[in-house]
Parts: sequence; structure tokens; C-alpha cells
Amino acid sequence: MSDHKRMWEKLNLDIEAHDGLLEVLGKFYGDIYMSQDNRLKGMEYMDFVLSEVHGLRIKELQDAKAAGRKVVGTFCVFVPEELTLAAGAVQVGLCAGAEVGSARAEDLVPRGTCALIKSFIGFKLSRLCPYIESCDMIVGETTCDGKKKAYEAFAAHAPLYVMEVPQTKSAAARALWRAEIVRFKERLEELTGKAITVDALKAAMKTVNARRRVLQRLNALRAADPAPISGRDALLINQISFYDDPERFTAKIGELCDELEARVARGQGVAPAGTPRLLLSGCPMAVPNWKLPYVVESSGAVIVGEESCIGTRNTRDLVDETPETMDGLLDALAERYMKIDCACFTPNDERMDNVAALAASQKADGVIHYALMFCQPYAHEAMKLGHTLADKGVPMLALETDYSMEDVEQLKTRVEAFVEMVS
Ligand code: SF4
Ligand code: SF4
Repeated sequence: MSDHKRMWEKLNLDIEAHDGLLEVLGKFYGDIYMSQDNRLKGMEYMDFVLSEVHGLRIKELQDAKAAGRKVVGTFCVFVPEELTLAAGAVQVGLCAGAEVGSARAEDLVPRGTCALIKSFIGFKLSRLCPYIESCDMIVGETTCDGKKKAYEAFAAHAPLYVMEVPQTKSAAARALWRAEIVRFKERLEELTGKAITVDALKAAMKTVNARRRVLQRLNALRAADPAPISGRDALLINQISFYDDPERFTAKIGELCDELEARVARGQGVAPAGTPRLLLSGCPMAVPNWKLPYVVESSGAVIVGEESCIGTRNTRDLVDETPETMDGLLDALAERYMKIDCACFTPNDERMDNVAALAASQKADGVIHYALMFCQPYAHEAMKLGHTLADKGVPMLALETDYSMEDVEQLKTRVEAFVEMVS
């Protein structure tokens, strides 16, 4: 028996079902990723990380645990990783991007629940995710109604802690969020038995900001025509940013950006200059949700940005690292995280402005708005965003889908018509 298999058994995974999952994932990855032309050399690292997504990275987490570190899992970009790192713990994003196990999720949540929620519940109930099983604490948040009610049910199955994310950005809401940051800090200190110091928090802010900066650099390079990297690869990089070691990841993406810069200087791209350029906007696409990017890039267009939490919504704003007191640092954290323009906020006009600005900076010919079926917040905002972009002369196509492959042909027909329209 391989070492990985022994490790998965110790984590109490359903080995047979898990083998099946890895086989499907490998085939899917091969079809969608390895079939691309003109890939960057730097993507070899991503291919490796993905091939070891349930192997070496899980081994690293187990080694960290053996050395006394705690593992904290999250589903949302509202959870401040800076505090987790400052407490000496490791934070991993729990992916929730696959349909497998979703049928079982209906034992805990209603049928009309979005695919992302069903996915993480299905992974847990089917014992398929070594990340979930490695976590000492999983952090939920009161963002959309679907998630907050799902966490109530999920709490019976996992060591859950819930942060209260407000729904507006009023002064009272900001005060509540600041208090939630303090409560999370205290919970982490209790979990790890380690007091968070000013120095540790400043160092953690540097680490997380450095990762944001390198992803900002990557995004800026995608403004070039021809586009130097495919949307599929850029999405994969953003996805991996949630569970790879932050310092190693930042160094690797820095190298990849050097390669991209040279490519841009040579005028080389993944598709010819003048290929229709599209921005994706909306719900986050977690691993291995690559369906829409594949459909778009096999319909004659190239994706030049992702306005989502697995994209620029997570990397656009930095934390102010300059305060020298704990209170000042916590203020800076609270302020930065309240800039997140999730559709769970009302009103949320800043997102409309941010999408329009990103479409302009990436020189997008159009925007595809992506909402998961049953996701009320993003489906509502799709309507408002359509009007905002129309006023600026930017065409938008609104799509609703889930993780199944049944609607691929239908999506392709709509995307191809849109690509033709913006060409
Ligand atoms: S879309 Fe909203 S709920 Fe989802 S990860 Fe982003 S901030 Fe969290
Ligand atoms: S996709 Fe929408 S409904 Fe699903 S968890 Fe995110 S915000 Fe909630």
C-alpha cells in the first residue's frame, strides 16, 4: 500500500470512492489543461501541485500537525488568514467545486441549494476530502442565507466556528465586524495555545500581502494583447493560492510573472492578437470547477480576468502593514476585509464600479456574469450589473449553471453567439 493511501486511511477517507474521484479529476484535468497550446513553463509547478493535491500537500499538513501546528479550513475570503498565520496555524481553503457527493448533501440541506454548498457538505458526508478531515477548526461565515443555514447543519459533522459577517457597510456593521475580528483572534489563541503578538501579526500581514501583490502583478500582465496566459491557467493559479504554502506559492508565481513579462515583451500570447477578450464575473469557481472557462476558451475567446473571490476580489486590496500597535493592526485588518464587495452586501454599488473598472483595465470586449443556480445574491446583482455595463457600452452575458456537465452544449451555444457578437 502506498504512503498516500495509508495517510488517507488514517484520515478515515472512503478509499474506494476517493480513488474514483482522483481518477475522474486526473482525466478532467488532462482534457482541460494538458490540451492547451503555448503554456508557460511556470505552469509545470501548478501541474505538479494539482497532481499532488491530495498527496504531498496533505502530507505537509500532517507533518505540520505532528509538529504541533493547527490546521484551519475556510470557505470564504472573509476569514483573515493573517490572524491564522500569526497564531502559528496553517489556513487552507476548502474547495467545494465538484458535484461528487452532492446527492448525499440533500440529507442535510434542501435540494434548491447552490452547488458550492452541496459540494462541501457532500464531500464531508462521503468522506472524500482529506483537507476537511485534516482541519482542527473549520470557519464558516454568515454571508448568504444558504451558507449560514447550511453551517447550522454542518456543525454536527465538523469542528465549526462561525464568523458573523454583516450585510451592510454602515458604522454599526463595521463595529460588529471589528468585534468579530477580535473574537476570531481570541478563538485562534485558544485553539493554538499561542498569543498573537504585534510582530507575528505584522509578519503574517507581509506574507499575505506579498501573495496578493504577486497575483496583482499577474493580473496586470493579462492586460496585454495578445493575452499571455489562458484564463484556465490564471484561474488554476488563483485556486491553488488557497491551499499552497503562501511563501512558496508567491516565489513560484513571481518566477512565472518574469516569464510572462518576457512573453509580453516579445508580443507572444496564448491566442492571436485581436482574439475576443472576456472578463468572467460573479460566483467563485473552486477546484475543480473549470467548466465555464473551458467552454469560453474553446469558443474562440480568451479570458482576461476573473472578478470573483477566486480572482481579483480576493487580491485587489492590501492590508495596511504600518500600524505598530495591536489595536491599529486589528483596525487595518477590519478595514481591509470590509472592502470585499461580495453580493451578500446591500447595497453593493462598489461591485458595479469595480467590475466596470476591471473590464476597462483588462481591455475586455465583454463580460460573462456567472451565477450558480439557486444563488440569489449574485443572480440579483447580474441584473444590476447588466445595466451598469450597458451604460458604459460593455456587452454582458448572464449565465446560471451548476457543476453538472449536462448543460455544456447549451452553454457553448450561448457563449459562441456572445463571442460572435463582441468580435
Ligand atoms: S462570494 Fe461572498 S460568500 Fe462567497 S467566498 Fe466570496 S465573500 Fe465569501
Ligand atoms: S454561490 Fe451564492 S448561494 Fe452559493 S454559497 Fe456563494 S453566495 Fe451563497
